[in-house]
Amino acid sequence: MNKEQIERYRMLKLLRDLSTKVGRGTEFVSLYIPPSRPLGDVSANLREEYGTANNIKSRVTRNHVLDALESIQQRLKLFKEVPPNGLVIFCGAVPQGEAAGSEKTEIFVLEPPKPVPFYLYRCDSRFYLDPLLASLSDEKSFGLIAIGRDEAGLGVVSGKDLRVLDVMTSGVPGKVRVGGQSARRYQRVLEQLVHEFFVHVAERANKEFLGIPNLQGIFVGGPGPTKEDFIKEGLLDYRLRDKVLDVVDLGYAGEEGLRELVNKIAPKLKDVEYAEEIEAFEELKQMLFEHPDKVALGKEEVDKAFKQGLVKKLLISEAFDVPYLLMKCDKCDYEIFVRATERPSTCPACDGGISVVKEESGLDHYLDLAIEQGAEVQIFSAHSESGEQFLRSYSGIAAFL
Ligand SMILES: [Zn+2]
Repeated sequence: MNKEQIERYRMLKLLRDLSTKVGRGTEFVSLYIPPSRPLGDVSANLREEYGTANNIKSRVTRNHVLDALESIQQRLKLFKEVPPNGLVIFCGAVPQGEAAGSEKTEIFVLEPPKPVPFYLYRCDSRFYLDPLLASLSDEKSFGLIAIGRDEAGLGVVSGKDLRVLDVMTSGVPGKVRVGGQSARRYQRVLEQLVHEFFVHVAERANKEFLGIPNLQGIFVGGPGPTKEDFIKEGLLDYRLRDKVLDVVDLGYAGEEGLRELVNKIAPKLKDVEYAEEIEAFEELKQMLFEHPDKVALGKEEVDKAFKQGLVKKLLISEAFDVPYLLMKCDKCDYEIFVRATERPSTCPACDGGISVVKEESGLDHYLDLAIEQGAEVQIFSAHSESGEQFLRSYSGIAAFL
């Protein structure tokens, strides 16, 4: 993970958090500003919305919307112009507890990694996150070919969704019994027809698959030896040939074959999804065996390595995404970063009083340190096999020095 990917990851995390916030009324403002929009136009539009909001019947909702619009105008003043990718702003009176009146105006100003495609002002009881979420998603895609002599299907699978791109039929007749001389001639004609069908399928596959951003690999399947023949002919574009991850035996070709193929490769897709994790975990085990002195294991050692500026790569579990406290002793220099649930009541060094300096997610804290020191980062999911093992065996944090 590089800096950009970490930023993207963080934005997704923030959006996940924003998606849980619900206003008491229709009073959460979402504002999408494309890069080309002059700030003056945005301001003018917001003034118009201010006028409209003045007519809201509920006094509380009205005030909340007006507050949000004012906060947004204030924030926009900090910009000389709209940033290169535009801006997305969420602002609303977020309830801080059960009681009515506990609401606090919160504002989130985001510069998305991809250009905002349209201008949009929306006032609702929730923030409108979908367009931003869609632009952040980097769900990996896989191309699928289910090919037989009589038909072929092309598809793409991302996440769990199969999209059928095309189904083609060859017109090649099934088994026909012809005797003698004509049998050989007939055979040649058949082979020519199959070859032409392969060319057609490959052309369609090249066109479709090369246009898929983030194509991670291709799976080819089908009944009998046809799929192998197809690959042997080398008709796929050179950029796609290396991406063929596996060839799978299927009962069917065409659309039905595609569905069968998705089911058969499901475990492999998971492996690919977590390939980076698996690789990092293997690297860790190997380092521990060959150069244990180049590895910091567990929170205490990693903290120390960060203090000494030695971290080259940080391995961290998502399980660290819980509240942590930075605490400082009131008397001595002792400083400690602990899970909020394990907060000490006195200084572990001198037994004096100890105070909280900062509260933040443990994951965020370590990501910041890694960015500061220019270290690479690998985040482990809490649910994958290697992620679970990493958490169990190495307490979910390690660093290469
Ligand atoms: Zn102390």
